[in-house]
Amino acid sequence: MNYSDLQLNTDLKDSLNALERGNRMPHAFIISGGSESERKTLAEHLSAWAVCGSDKNRPCGSCKNCQNAFERAHSDIYYAKSSGKTKIYKADELKWIVADASIKPNQADRKVYVFEECDKRLPEISQNILLKTIEEPPQDILFILTCENSKTMLETIRSRATTLNLGYEKEQNEEYVELAEEILRGILSSSELELLKATYKLSDRFSAIQTLDTVVDILGDGLSMQSGFEPSDNTAVAELLCGKLTKSQFLALIEITISAKQKINQNVSLELLSTWLCSQYRKTVW
Ligand SMILES: [Zn+2]
Repeated sequence: MNYSDLQLNTDLKDSLNALERGNRMPHAFIISGGSESERKTLAEHLSAWAVCGSDKNRPCGSCKNCQNAFERAHSDIYYAKSSGKTKIYKADELKWIVADASIKPNQADRKVYVFEECDKRLPEISQNILLKTIEEPPQDILFILTCENSKTMLETIRSRATTLNLGYEKEQNEEYVELAEEILRGILSSSELELLKATYKLSDRFSAIQTLDTVVDILGDGLSMQSGFEPSDNTAVAELLCGKLTKSQFLALIEITISAKQKINQNVSLELLSTWLCSQYRKTVW
C-alpha cells in the first residue's frame, strides 16, 4: 500500500502491511484517533485499496478505479449522507445502505460504505440498524467507520471490525470533570447565563453523556457528604453543593440529569437538550 501522504505510526503501518500481504480485507474497519483530516485520508486510501484493479501495491493510484475513488466518484464507494440540523445518519439512510449492501458491485470487486465521524453522527440506536449487516456481512463488502474515540461504537461492532488507531485517542476524563463542575457551579450561580453557557458546551453526544455521568457522580458525592459520608473525589464542588442544596434538590437534580442522558440516546438535538436541562435545573434550585 502506498502511504506517502499518510503520517502513520509504525504499529499501524505494520498491521496494514500484514493485512495486505495476507490479502485479507476485513469486512469492517474502525478508524479512530488522530485528527479528522487524518481519518478522512486513511478512509479514502482504504476505499481505494478495496476497489483498486492493480495486482500489487494497492491502491496504485493510477488505475481508473483508484482515480474515481480518490475523487470520491466511484460507483462502488458510498459515503453515507448525514442530514438534518443534528447532522446524524438518519434511519432511512442506514436502512437503504443495509439493503443496497446485498446488491453486487458495479465496476470493482468490492463495495465500500464509509461512515464518517460516527461519534457525532451515528448514535447507538442507529448503530443497531447496521449491526446485523456487520455481523453477517454479504460477500465483498467493506464498511469503514471513522470516529474520534472507538469507545463510542457498540462493543458488538468493535469486536467484528478491525480497529486502526491513528494515535492517541484523547483521554477526556479531565475535560468531562471540568465541564461537569462548570455546569454544577452554574446551577448554584444567581445568573442564568452562566448555566446556559456551561450546558451549551455539550458539543457532541459521546462527551455529553460522559459529562452528564460525571455530573451525577459529583451530585452523588455531595449527597453522601450531606449524610455524613466522606466521598472519594471531587470534594471542592461537592462541598459547595452540600452547603447549598437540600436533599430533595439533590435527588431532583440527579433525576433530571439521568433523563437528559436518556434523551441523548433517543437522538434529541443537543441544542434542545441544553435548553431543557437549563430550565429543569433552574426550576429545581431557584
Ligand atoms: Zn489502482
